[in-house]
Amino acid sequence: MKAVMIHTFNVRPELLTVADPVPPDDGVVVQVGATGVCRSDWHGWVGHDPDITLPHVPGHELAGTVVATGRHIRRWKVGDRVTVPFVSGCGRCHECQAGHPQVCDRQFQPGFTHWGSFAEYVALHQAEQNLVALPDDLDFVTAASLGCRFATSFRAVVHQGRVRAGEWVAVHGCGGVGLSAIMIAKALGAGVVAVDIDVEKLDLARQLGADVVINSRVTPDVAGAVRDATDGGVHVSLDALGHPETCVNSIENLRTRGRHVQVGLLLADQRRPALPMDRVIARELELYGSHGMPAHAYPEMLAMIRRGALQPDRLLGQRVSLEQSIDVLVNMDRFLERGVTVIDRFA
Ligand SMILES: [Zn+2]
Ligand SMILES: [Zn+2]
Repeated sequence: MKAVMIHTFNVRPELLTVADPVPPDDGVVVQVGATGVCRSDWHGWVGHDPDITLPHVPGHELAGTVVATGRHIRRWKVGDRVTVPFVSGCGRCHECQAGHPQVCDRQFQPGFTHWGSFAEYVALHQAEQNLVALPDDLDFVTAASLGCRFATSFRAVVHQGRVRAGEWVAVHGCGGVGLSAIMIAKALGAGVVAVDIDVEKLDLARQLGADVVINSRVTPDVAGAVRDATDGGVHVSLDALGHPETCVNSIENLRTRGRHVQVGLLLADQRRPALPMDRVIARELELYGSHGMPAHAYPEMLAMIRRGALQPDRLLGQRVSLEQSIDVLVNMDRFLERGVTVIDRFA
């Protein structure tokens, strides 16, 4: 099969022909129909992710068709159209047993712990509990865009942030995660403040329903501006970028007893930002992490998509070939892409 291969961190990956994968006993092989290009892939390529061993194939936002199954697989068969959360739980540990495979102690992550989906085929381990069947009317490109950023935003807004109609939500960073969060928060009936440094991304945010947009490049006190626009602060705030500045702004723009959800990854030398814990105590703020979404939560999200309340296809950006994806990947840190870039040609 063709695959995008990383041989050395921070050196341009190559498109190579390698052996097709075989299904593990607890897994399946999926012919990739579409796969998203995500900032996490860039972090992996640069060498920020300790789970990755070289040589490596990135890619974790995939949808496709099952073409082979391992001997312990009962629920899935050849021909099934599926997607998979970017974290697949083991099904046996304490967290999996409690219904939280997204924070499993023995995670399988395609494109991180194992070779991923920047390839014609990908082997998925721990597949029995973790695959998600796709509705027939959901195309692979849209489905691929759900697996990481959209599902992560859904969990962050719906489950961790517990956003309710009539509340204010701030979204810091209007990339794939942030735009998804805006759409989801609006679908729940919340008012949304979108923050970014990029005028075009703020235009997209407004098209998706953001009530207030703030350009943080020209706004000296972002948190103050959000509080002013929302009568004292938002109920829920997301750092959808993952940067010390957006993280702190997201905490400081909350109203009393507000909820901050950290969605964007803070990596490398930005892992431990200085947080305003004085404010967290005095105002009884709540801080949450959000890490993907379990397969069992997908039906709720898919139902909202099927009835048109959520339209993830509106977040799609460019479609590229496997070969073109290399340029997109290595330039991901420049934030050039608008919406979600998806690979949909593999030959
Ligand atoms: Zn991703
Ligand atoms: Zn587990």
